This record gives sequence, structure tokens and C-alpha cells, in this order.
Amino acid sequence: MSRAKKGEGSRTKLREYFLRNVGEILSSPELFDISGGAHEFGRRIRELRNDEGMTILTHKDRSDLKPGQYIYLNTKPLPIHDKAISKGTRAKVLDRDGHTCQSCGVSAGEIHPFNGRKVTLQLGHIIDKSMGGSDEENNLQALCSVCNEGSSNITHNRPDFIKLKAQIKRAPKDVQLELLEWFIAKFPNQATDNLSKNNS
Ligand SMILES: [Zn+2]
Repeated sequence: MSRAKKGEGSRTKLREYFLRNVGEILSSPELFDISGGAHEFGRRIRELRNDEGMTILTHKDRSDLKPGQYIYLNTKPLPIHDKAISKGTRAKVLDRDGHTCQSCGVSAGEIHPFNGRKVTLQLGHIIDKSMGGSDEENNLQALCSVCNEGSSNITHNRPDFIKLKAQIKRAPKDVQLELLEWFIAKFPNQATDNLSKNNS
């Protein structure tokens, strides 16, 4: 058996195992066994990620994972690896969307409140390709990796200041003013304290 075929066999075993264990934390020793003891099982996993677009996350993607732990999130391929989208289209969409995630409002280069990592933006389809959505600009939007890969859906953290502020920044002005009114009504003393401080 050739070396390439051997690698393909362990890649298939790993692919099937990830597909059977969506959302489960899987460890290196377990995956080593599943791959049939392939010493290059790490490389096979990278191939599943990069060549097949499987959303397999490691401690480099998620601060709650330890080194050697892997989690496969969903069955949707990563749109960022979609070669049908040209660099020009990508740049135009990111520019149009103000380099800000259209789902949670974080901007490129900020620290993401969900995983504590620097935000990198990807392109996501507004109407999924499986539902007939196109690769045209008007069907694409900027999304951070957390929103694009759906990982924010699997935790139920209470929203913190950074995340809320990012959401509010995206809201229309009248919503922001409505919130201001709500805050003033909720904290009348603090609001007047602040006003007198700023006017003095
Ligand atoms: Zn996001």
C-alpha cells in the first residue's frame, strides 16, 4: 500500500469520527487510536480543516480547550476557504461592512469577548449556499470566526461590557437614544451626578 493511500485511510476514519461526535471535546490519544495509530494524525486533522473545510477547533481557536483537544462544531464547511470568492470581492465586502462582524459587532483586530483572541473576519453567506445562495457581494457579509463557525451558540455566558458595547455600537441612533433614556430612568442619581460633573 502506498503512503498516500495509508494517509487517506486514517483521514477517512478521523472524518467519520468527527462527524459522529459533533460538539464533543476529543483528545489526541483518542484520535490517535481512531486514526489506526497514524503518527501523522495531526496532519490528517489539518487536512480535514484546510482541504475539506471542516470546522475543527483547537486550543489555538478556543481558550477553553487544552492543547491536544479538538472539537468539531458543525457540518457546514468554512466559507473563508471558498475559492469561488475572489480577493477583490472579499475586500469590497469587508470595506462595505466597515470591517465589523455583522452578527456580534466586533471589529477586526479587537480582542473577541468570547474567546479572548484577536478578531479575524471571514466572509459568510447570508443565504447559505446549500439553499441556493450565491457567491455575489450582495449575498456575502463580514463575520468573525466565532459567529461564522457558530461556536458562540454552544455557551450561554451572560453578555459582558465589551460584547454589549459592540452590539450597541451597531444599533441605529434612535435605538441608542432609547437605551440612553432607559439608563437615565434606571439610574437617575448617577445620571444627574454625571451631568453636574461635566458642567462644572
Ligand atoms: Zn461575531
